[in-house]
Amino acid sequence: MIRIHNTMTKQAEEFRPIEEGKVRMYVCGPTVYNLIHIGNARPMIFFDTVRRYLEYRGFAVNYVSNFTDVDDKIIKAAQEEGLPAEEISERYIAECQKDMESLNVLPASTHPKATEEIDGMVRMIDTLVQKGHAYPAMDGTVYFRSRSFAEYGKLSHKNLDDLRSGERALKVDGAEQKEDPLDFVLWKPKKEGEPAWPSPWCEGRPGWHIECSEMSRKYLGEEIDIHGGGEDLVFPHHENEIAQSECCSGKSFARYWMHNAFLNIDNKKMSKSEGNFFTVRDVLQKYDGQVLRFFMLSAHYRSPLNFSEELMESAKTSLHRIVNCWENLAYLMKGERGENSSEAEEGLLRETERFTEAFVNAMDDDFNTADGIAAVFELVRFINSHTDESSSMEFLLGLKERLQSLTDVLGISLSSKNASPAEGLSEEEIEAMIAERTAAKKEKNFARADEIRATLLEKGIVLEDTREGVRWKRA
Ligand code: AMP
Ligand code: ZN
Repeated sequence: MIRIHNTMTKQAEEFRPIEEGKVRMYVCGPTVYNLIHIGNARPMIFFDTVRRYLEYRGFAVNYVSNFTDVDDKIIKAAQEEGLPAEEISERYIAECQKDMESLNVLPASTHPKATEEIDGMVRMIDTLVQKGHAYPAMDGTVYFRSRSFAEYGKLSHKNLDDLRSGERALKVDGAEQKEDPLDFVLWKPKKEGEPAWPSPWCEGRPGWHIECSEMSRKYLGEEIDIHGGGEDLVFPHHENEIAQSECCSGKSFARYWMHNAFLNIDNKKMSKSEGNFFTVRDVLQKYDGQVLRFFMLSAHYRSPLNFSEELMESAKTSLHRIVNCWENLAYLMKGERGENSSEAEEGLLRETERFTEAFVNAMDDDFNTADGIAAVFELVRFINSHTDESSSMEFLLGLKERLQSLTDVLGISLSSKNASPAEGLSEEEIEAMIAERTAAKKEKNFARADEIRATLLEKGIVLEDTREGVRWKRA
């Protein structure tokens, strides 16, 4: 049984999807005006892992994650570069997709873009106006009437009095037009040089919150199972999404609200506006995307995580231990050996089921990836101590499959080049260098042979001359 900590109830609840065997999941994606930073990568990696795990547990997952491609920051970036806004957003969507690939984040089932869904948003706003939940002001701005939704505040556990005391902070442009300071914008009029679309109220563009309500409805339906994002989105973004969606449909919007904690630097949230950020691209200069992914998953998603060189190095070392185990299995499988496993090996293979069980128990418990990784390490230790030159092919294959089934859920790819890029020679490159060294030795060119050994060692590859030939492993 999978349990999910629901922000709405503040409790771990048994996961029961609306439709048996199927999951409808929506996660708020990035605003595309710049390269994404590693704080943005945390929800991407985590919810990709949630999706992978739910699929592993047999669910068909319909996963939707948007790109916010119309926003003040995009417009500002476009003005600074003297380019149309869509050129900026298209550029950074493409860059974001490259980063996702480096982090082994699978594309969602659908990645809708706000600018392509404006008609639907206008229709949704219109319904809200018709139902008395929204109203246009003199200049064409349309506001949501927050107090018209009796349950406003239910996700963030704020009551209207708390919110009233924070009213000053809510005073934004055009506040004097609002019936109530708690009302928020659904549609705003065009300003000079900004992208705009027609609407019954004025030419303009949507507010931020309405896009997720509309895209979630369109691609997943009025009621969904999981809605996720970083914890900064609880209020006001998700609170407002709930108000819009529920007032429009009259149904309960999402069953489980999941929020990842922040990725911090020196215990402060990493954010573009604070300037204390590293882009994914910065980090990929030094580390492979697998290392960053492993680092993110090494902590529980609801715990804050501090980014530091030290923790990245430790993630790298830990990941190497898993990769090493995998490569040793691959190496052993290349040698001459018996096909079928012995009775003792069959017993050992059965024993490894307990590692999968431990992994599943951890992941069932609100996607505890930290404990899941611990179970993978137990399996690695077991494999290392029960395999050698005498192991049968069937046994080695069984172990390899067991290990891979778990690392696949974590989105850790064990095949070549998953160490750090500085050291990241692929298997083929290493094999080619070893072949060159063997040839050099045959020609008695020992200087060249030693040179190749030293080059490989510098890149973290250790050679061992055995009776069966040269064996290599990552140090
Ligand atoms: P944004 O581009 O700011 O709309 O953010 C995209 C996603 O990244 C949202 O789910 C945010 O909650 C999340 N996010 C932004 N900064 C951080 C951070 N420092 N740690 C964790 N998640 C973050
Ligand atoms: Zn959203």
